[in-house]
Amino acid sequence: MVDMVDMVDYVIPIRTGKIVINHKKCEECEVYECAKACSLYGRNIIRIKNGRPITFLGEEEIRRRDNECLACEINCPYDAIKIILDFPELDRGA
Ligand code: SF4
Repeated sequence: MVDMVDMVDYVIPIRTGKIVINHKKCEECEVYECAKACSLYGRNIIRIKNGRPITFLGEEEIRRRDNECLACEINCPYDAIKIILDFPELDRGA
């Protein structure tokens, strides 16, 4: 389920982790490079609504589409997006 963790962070679950967007940092943004990068290099998971990057997709469709290109994080000039990947083998000390 796509949900708001709190008033600041917007979380999009992906197959191997999650995309965490700090909407507070997006308030001054006028470039929306995250959504542009997602349409160019990703699979249109992120769209802009009312000046904020969100997804309109359900979890299953996000899992199907996500290609883990990392373009949204790399291209955001405000450091507002973090992609957090799960590495359970590291947690187990493997
Ligand atoms: S995530 Fe970055 S590029 Fe996207 S709207 Fe927020 S500040 Fe702009």
